[in-house]
Amino acid sequence: MTPPAGWWVGDARITPIVEVTADCIIQAGMRDATPERMLGIPWLRPDFATDDGQMRSVVQAFVIELGDTVVLVDTGVGNGKPRPGLPAWSGLDTDFLDRLAAHGVQPDGVDVVVSTHLHFDHVGWNTTARRDTWTPTFTRARYLVSETEFGYWAGRPHGESADDHAGFDDSVRPVLDAGLVDLVADDHKVHDGIRLVPTPGHTPGHVSVLVESAGREAVISGDAIHHPCQIAHPEWSVHADFDPERARRTRVELLGRCADAGTLLIGSHFPSPTAIRVGRDGPGFTVHPVDLP
Ligand SMILES: [Zn+2]
Repeated sequence: MTPPAGWWVGDARITPIVEVTADCIIQAGMRDATPERMLGIPWLRPDFATDDGQMRSVVQAFVIELGDTVVLVDTGVGNGKPRPGLPAWSGLDTDFLDRLAAHGVQPDGVDVVVSTHLHFDHVGWNTTARRDTWTPTFTRARYLVSETEFGYWAGRPHGESADDHAGFDDSVRPVLDAGLVDLVADDHKVHDGIRLVPTPGHTPGHVSVLVESAGREAVISGDAIHHPCQIAHPEWSVHADFDPERARRTRVELLGRCADAGTLLIGSHFPSPTAIRVGRDGPGFTVHPVDLP
Protein backbone atom coordinates (compact mmCIF):
# COMPACT_ATOMS: atom_id res chain seq x y z
CA MET A 1 0.00 0.00 0.00
CA THR A 2 1.35 3.45 -0.87
CA PRO A 3 2.00 5.57 2.18
CA PRO A 4 0.13 8.87 2.35
CA ALA A 5 2.01 11.91 1.07
CA GLY A 6 1.56 13.59 4.43
CA TRP A 7 -0.58 16.27 5.99
CA TRP A 8 -0.59 20.01 6.45
CA VAL A 9 -1.48 21.10 9.95
CA GLY A 10 -1.66 24.87 9.66
CA ASP A 11 1.83 25.82 8.49
CA ALA A 12 3.38 22.53 9.61
CA ARG A 13 3.85 19.65 7.21
CA ILE A 14 3.99 16.11 8.61
CA THR A 15 5.22 13.28 6.37
CA PRO A 16 5.44 9.56 7.21
CA ILE A 17 8.58 7.70 6.14
CA VAL A 18 7.73 3.99 6.32
CA GLU A 19 10.54 1.58 7.20
CA VAL A 20 9.01 -1.94 7.38
CA THR A 21 5.68 -3.67 7.88
CA ALA A 22 4.83 -4.85 11.36
CA ASP A 23 1.59 -6.69 10.64
CA CYS A 24 1.41 -9.81 12.80
CA ILE A 25 4.12 -8.65 15.21
CA ILE A 26 1.88 -6.16 16.98
CA GLN A 27 -1.20 -8.37 16.86
CA ALA A 28 0.82 -11.18 18.47
CA GLY A 29 1.52 -8.85 21.39
CA MET A 30 -2.11 -7.72 21.82
CA ARG A 31 -3.88 -10.72 23.30
CA ASP A 32 -7.38 -9.24 23.09
CA ALA A 33 -7.11 -8.42 19.39
CA THR A 34 -8.19 -11.82 18.07
CA PRO A 35 -9.26 -11.98 14.41
CA GLU A 36 -12.89 -12.44 15.53
CA ARG A 37 -12.81 -9.30 17.68
CA MET A 38 -11.00 -7.34 14.96
CA LEU A 39 -13.84 -8.26 12.56
CA GLY A 40 -16.26 -6.86 15.15
CA ILE A 41 -14.89 -3.35 14.41
CA PRO A 42 -16.18 -2.86 10.84
CA TRP A 43 -14.37 0.43 10.07
CA LEU A 44 -10.96 -1.24 10.51
CA ARG A 45 -11.38 -2.83 7.07
CA PRO A 46 -9.85 -2.54 4.55
CA ASP A 47 -7.10 -0.10 5.63
CA PHE A 48 -6.30 -1.20 9.18
CA ALA A 49 -7.22 -4.90 9.03
CA THR A 50 -7.66 -7.61 6.41
CA ASP A 51 -10.94 -9.37 5.66
CA ASP A 52 -9.85 -12.23 7.89
CA GLY A 53 -9.20 -10.04 10.90
CA GLN A 54 -5.41 -9.72 10.63
CA MET A 55 -3.93 -6.44 11.77
CA ARG A 56 -2.19 -4.19 9.28
CA SER A 57 0.62 -2.12 10.82
CA VAL A 58 4.00 -0.63 9.98
CA VAL A 59 7.15 0.84 11.51
CA GLN A 60 7.67 4.44 10.44
CA ALA A 61 9.21 7.79 11.26
CA PHE A 62 7.59 11.19 10.79
CA VAL A 63 9.20 14.32 9.41
CA ILE A 64 7.73 17.57 10.76
CA GLU A 65 8.68 20.68 8.77
CA LEU A 66 7.72 24.01 10.29
CA GLY A 67 9.43 27.15 9.06
CA ASP A 68 13.08 26.24 8.55
CA THR A 69 13.06 23.53 11.20
CA VAL A 70 13.11 19.81 10.42
CA VAL A 71 12.09 17.44 13.23
CA LEU A 72 12.21 13.66 12.94
CA VAL A 73 9.92 11.73 15.31
CA ASP A 74 11.01 8.15 16.09
CA THR A 75 13.63 6.43 13.94
CA GLY A 76 12.42 2.86 13.41
CA VAL A 77 14.44 -0.33 13.75
CA GLY A 78 17.57 0.70 11.82
CA ASN A 79 19.85 -1.30 9.54
CA GLY A 80 22.10 -4.15 10.60
CA LYS A 81 21.04 -4.27 14.23
CA PRO A 82 21.07 -7.76 15.75
CA ARG A 83 17.66 -8.43 17.40
CA PRO A 84 17.60 -12.20 17.97
CA GLY A 85 14.31 -12.07 19.88
CA LEU A 86 12.50 -10.72 16.82
CA PRO A 87 14.10 -12.25 13.69
CA ALA A 88 11.76 -10.35 11.31
CA TRP A 89 13.38 -7.08 12.44
CA SER A 90 16.91 -8.38 12.98
CA GLY A 91 19.72 -7.31 10.66
CA LEU A 92 17.45 -5.20 8.45
CA ASP A 93 18.77 -3.76 5.22
CA THR A 94 16.20 -1.19 4.05
CA ASP A 95 16.48 1.98 1.96
CA PHE A 96 15.00 4.14 4.73
CA LEU A 97 17.61 6.89 4.35
CA ASP A 98 16.97 6.98 0.58
CA ARG A 99 13.26 7.38 1.27
CA LEU A 100 14.06 10.24 3.62
CA ALA A 101 16.30 11.77 0.94
CA ALA A 102 13.54 11.32 -1.67
CA HIS A 103 11.45 13.54 0.58
CA GLY A 104 14.25 16.11 0.44
CA VAL A 105 15.81 15.48 3.84
CA GLN A 106 19.47 14.44 4.12
CA PRO A 107 20.74 13.10 7.46
CA ASP A 108 22.61 16.34 8.18
CA GLY A 109 19.45 18.32 7.40
CA VAL A 110 17.62 17.04 10.50
CA ASP A 111 17.63 19.61 13.32
CA VAL A 112 15.87 17.65 16.06
CA VAL A 113 15.22 13.94 16.63
CA VAL A 114 12.44 13.16 19.13
CA SER A 115 12.03 9.69 20.63
CA THR A 116 8.52 8.98 21.92
CA HIS A 117 10.16 6.25 24.02
CA LEU A 118 13.26 4.07 23.92
CA HIS A 119 12.03 0.70 22.61
CA PHE A 120 14.35 -0.50 19.87
CA ASP A 121 11.82 -0.04 17.05
CA HIS A 122 11.73 3.72 17.77
CA VAL A 123 15.43 4.56 18.07
CA GLY A 124 17.14 2.34 15.47
CA TRP A 125 18.17 4.92 12.87
CA ASN A 126 19.63 7.13 15.60
CA THR A 127 22.86 5.35 14.68
CA THR A 128 24.44 3.65 11.68
CA ALA A 129 27.43 1.29 11.51
CA ARG A 130 30.73 2.89 10.56
CA ARG A 131 33.58 0.41 10.57
CA ASP A 132 32.65 -1.58 13.66
CA THR A 133 31.06 1.18 15.68
CA TRP A 134 27.58 2.65 15.91
CA THR A 135 27.83 6.32 15.14
CA PRO A 136 25.14 9.05 15.07
CA THR A 137 23.22 9.17 11.78
CA PHE A 138 21.85 12.70 12.18
CA THR A 139 25.12 14.40 12.96
CA ARG A 140 23.81 17.96 13.29
CA ALA A 141 20.68 17.10 15.30
CA ARG A 142 19.83 17.45 18.96
CA TYR A 143 18.28 14.18 20.09
CA LEU A 144 15.52 14.86 22.64
CA VAL A 145 14.76 12.14 25.17
CA SER A 146 12.43 12.36 28.16
CA GLU A 147 14.49 12.46 31.33
CA THR A 148 12.04 10.05 32.98
CA GLU A 149 12.34 7.63 30.08
CA PHE A 150 16.13 7.81 30.02
CA GLY A 151 16.36 7.20 33.77
CA TYR A 152 14.14 4.16 33.44
CA TRP A 153 16.33 2.53 30.77
CA ALA A 154 19.61 3.53 32.40
CA GLY A 155 18.44 1.45 35.38
CA ARG A 156 18.42 -1.70 33.17
CA PRO A 157 14.76 -2.60 33.93
CA HIS A 158 14.17 -6.34 34.47
CA GLY A 159 10.85 -6.48 32.62
CA GLU A 160 12.22 -5.32 29.26
CA SER A 161 13.56 -7.57 26.51
CA ALA A 162 17.23 -8.22 25.68
CA ASP A 163 16.58 -6.66 22.26
CA ASP A 164 15.38 -3.44 23.90
CA HIS A 165 18.46 -3.32 26.15
CA ALA A 166 20.59 -3.89 23.03
CA GLY A 167 18.72 -1.00 21.38
CA PHE A 168 19.60 1.26 24.29
CA ASP A 169 23.26 0.26 23.98
CA ASP A 170 23.67 0.52 20.19
CA SER A 171 21.17 3.28 19.34
CA VAL A 172 20.93 5.57 22.39
CA ARG A 173 24.31 5.36 24.21
CA PRO A 174 26.37 6.35 21.13
CA VAL A 175 24.38 9.57 20.59
CA LEU A 176 24.64 10.31 24.30
CA ASP A 177 28.40 9.70 24.23
CA ALA A 178 28.66 12.01 21.20
CA GLY A 179 27.07 14.78 23.27
CA LEU A 180 24.00 15.01 21.03
CA VAL A 181 21.29 14.10 23.59
CA ASP A 182 19.21 16.61 25.55
CA LEU A 183 17.32 15.07 28.45
CA VAL A 184 14.07 17.03 28.66
CA ALA A 185 10.85 17.28 30.65
CA ASP A 186 7.86 15.24 29.48
CA ASP A 187 6.08 18.47 28.43
CA HIS A 188 9.10 20.07 26.76
CA LYS A 189 8.55 22.71 24.06
CA VAL A 190 10.51 21.51 21.04
CA HIS A 191 9.82 24.57 18.86
CA ASP A 192 7.08 27.17 18.47
CA GLY A 193 4.10 24.96 17.60
CA ILE A 194 5.68 21.62 18.54
CA ARG A 195 5.70 20.25 22.07
CA LEU A 196 5.83 17.00 23.98
CA VAL A 197 2.85 15.73 25.96
CA PRO A 198 3.33 13.08 28.64
CA THR A 199 1.59 9.82 27.67
CA PRO A 200 2.95 7.30 30.21
CA GLY A 201 1.96 3.65 30.52
CA HIS A 202 3.55 1.86 27.59
CA THR A 203 6.82 2.95 29.19
CA PRO A 204 7.21 5.21 32.27
CA GLY A 205 8.43 8.26 30.34
CA HIS A 206 6.54 7.80 27.08
CA VAL A 207 5.71 11.09 25.33
CA SER A 208 3.61 12.04 22.31
CA VAL A 209 4.33 14.97 20.01
CA LEU A 210 1.70 17.69 19.63
CA VAL A 211 1.82 19.95 16.58
CA GLU A 212 -0.23 23.17 16.80
CA SER A 213 -0.29 25.68 13.97
CA ALA A 214 -2.81 28.25 12.72
CA GLY A 215 -5.61 26.83 14.84
CA ARG A 216 -5.10 23.21 13.81
CA GLU A 217 -3.64 20.32 15.82
CA ALA A 218 -2.16 16.90 15.25
CA VAL A 219 -0.62 14.45 17.69
CA ILE A 220 1.92 11.75 16.89
CA SER A 221 1.02 9.19 19.51
CA GLY A 222 4.07 6.90 19.42
CA ASP A 223 3.08 3.66 21.15
CA ALA A 224 0.51 5.24 23.47
CA ILE A 225 -1.86 3.83 20.84
CA HIS A 226 -0.38 0.94 18.84
CA HIS A 227 -3.24 0.34 16.46
CA PRO A 228 -6.55 1.98 15.47
CA CYS A 229 -8.44 -0.97 17.03
CA GLN A 230 -7.61 0.64 20.40
CA ILE A 231 -9.80 3.61 19.46
CA ALA A 232 -12.76 1.22 19.75
CA HIS A 233 -11.12 -0.67 22.64
CA PRO A 234 -8.75 1.53 24.68
CA GLU A 235 -8.61 -1.27 27.25
CA TRP A 236 -6.74 -3.55 24.84
CA SER A 237 -3.08 -3.58 25.91
CA VAL A 238 0.06 -4.98 24.37
CA HIS A 239 2.11 -7.27 26.57
CA ALA A 240 5.00 -4.80 26.33
CA ASP A 241 2.94 -2.15 28.19
CA PHE A 242 4.90 -1.38 31.38
CA ASP A 243 1.70 -0.39 33.25
CA PRO A 244 -1.39 -1.58 31.33
CA GLU A 245 -3.90 0.32 33.50
CA ARG A 246 -1.95 3.58 33.15
CA ALA A 247 -1.62 2.91 29.41
CA ARG A 248 -5.42 2.50 29.17
CA ARG A 249 -6.05 5.77 31.03
CA THR A 250 -3.53 7.54 28.80
CA ARG A 251 -5.31 6.25 25.68
CA VAL A 252 -8.71 7.43 26.95
CA GLU A 253 -7.27 10.88 27.77
CA LEU A 254 -5.53 11.17 24.42
CA LEU A 255 -8.58 10.00 22.45
CA GLY A 256 -10.77 12.43 24.42
CA ARG A 257 -8.46 15.29 23.48
CA CYS A 258 -8.50 14.24 19.83
CA ALA A 259 -12.30 14.01 19.79
CA ASP A 260 -12.94 17.27 21.67
CA ALA A 261 -10.23 19.48 20.12
CA GLY A 262 -10.41 18.01 16.62
CA THR A 263 -6.79 16.87 16.92
CA LEU A 264 -5.61 14.65 14.08
CA LEU A 265 -4.34 11.34 15.49
CA ILE A 266 -1.21 9.92 13.84
CA GLY A 267 0.11 6.63 15.21
CA SER A 268 3.69 5.44 14.88
CA HIS A 269 2.49 1.97 13.82
CA PHE A 270 -0.71 3.01 11.98
CA PRO A 271 -0.69 1.87 8.34
CA SER A 272 -1.84 4.08 5.47
CA PRO A 273 -3.90 6.31 5.54
CA THR A 274 -2.32 6.71 9.02
CA ALA A 275 -4.00 9.96 10.15
CA ILE A 276 -7.35 9.57 11.90
CA ARG A 277 -10.11 11.89 13.09
CA VAL A 278 -11.50 10.60 16.35
CA GLY A 279 -15.11 11.13 17.39
CA ARG A 280 -17.09 10.26 20.50
CA ASP A 281 -19.49 7.34 20.31
CA GLY A 282 -21.50 7.15 23.55
CA PRO A 283 -18.98 6.48 26.30
CA GLY A 284 -16.40 5.31 23.74
CA PHE A 285 -14.78 6.49 20.53
CA THR A 286 -15.06 6.00 16.81
CA VAL A 287 -13.44 7.44 13.66
CA HIS A 288 -14.52 10.10 11.16
CA PRO A 289 -13.21 10.71 7.64
CA VAL A 290 -10.12 12.90 7.43
CA ASP A 291 -10.71 16.18 5.58
CA LEU A 292 -7.12 17.44 5.36
CA PRO A 293 -4.99 17.77 2.22
ZN1 LIG B 1 6.71 0.38 18.75
